[in-house]
Amino acid sequence: MQRPVLAANWKMNNGPATASVFIRSFLAHYSRSQERTVIFFPPALSLNALHAALHERPDILLGVQNIYWEPQGAFTGELSAPMARDAGASVALVGHSERRHVFGETDDQCAKKCEAAVNAGLTPMLCVGEKLDEREAGQTETVVLRQLKAGMSRLGAPYAGPIVIAYEPVWAIGTGRNATPDDAAKVHGVIRDELRTIVGDRAVHIPILYGGSVNPGNASSLLEAQDVDGLLVGGASLDPASWISIVSASQRSMKKG
Ligand code: PEP
Repeated sequence: MQRPVLAANWKMNNGPATASVFIRSFLAHYSRSQERTVIFFPPALSLNALHAALHERPDILLGVQNIYWEPQGAFTGELSAPMARDAGASVALVGHSERRHVFGETDDQCAKKCEAAVNAGLTPMLCVGEKLDEREAGQTETVVLRQLKAGMSRLGAPYAGPIVIAYEPVWAIGTGRNATPDDAAKVHGVIRDELRTIVGDRAVHIPILYGGSVNPGNASSLLEAQDVDGLLVGGASLDPASWISIVSASQRSMKKG
């Protein structure tokens, strides 16, 4: 059985002072657990504040929301995978829909970022997902598989290292409109099948998270869906009470064998 992964993407919210207050409140209500993995993706400027607060909590991981693929150099405003690792991150989001669709990130760039993450000892969390027009045109599987194959294309075959996939339909992100558990299960099944082709039997151990308007009311049913191994949560992870409630939902949903 997979240990559920609950990941909080704070996007461009919670600077260092707010992040410190949040994490203190979270830790006061969340006891150490071997039953799930919790990951925070704060803005990079707040990474240090969380890292300082989490030094005795190896059960809670930190990640960065984006990396550049070069390790260092004249790339003003960017941050590299080795720097993220040095600052306490162990995971890097790659290809979040806002990176792809607001900042124009391409599949090829996502592939370079996944490769850079792995080379620096970070686990890439590769985000894939279709836009509304693509969904309505029946292109969900085509888009998701293209992004998945492209994103992993520079990792070598068969890839034997760590990776997490997040299925985040773009039409569900920040809209209040989530995929149904059946919708999610269908796409996650397609992703799992493709992962079998890419990494063989190890595919069953690669967590596939769902993201898109997850909240305390729908978290349990999404976690119960086939092939949904965890959740990537934006808006609802910004409120300590709702985030605790979503994390706790994984306790109630430990059902899959
Ligand atoms: C996200 O940012 O990855 C996300 C899923 O956002 P939200 O939960 O707000 O839809």
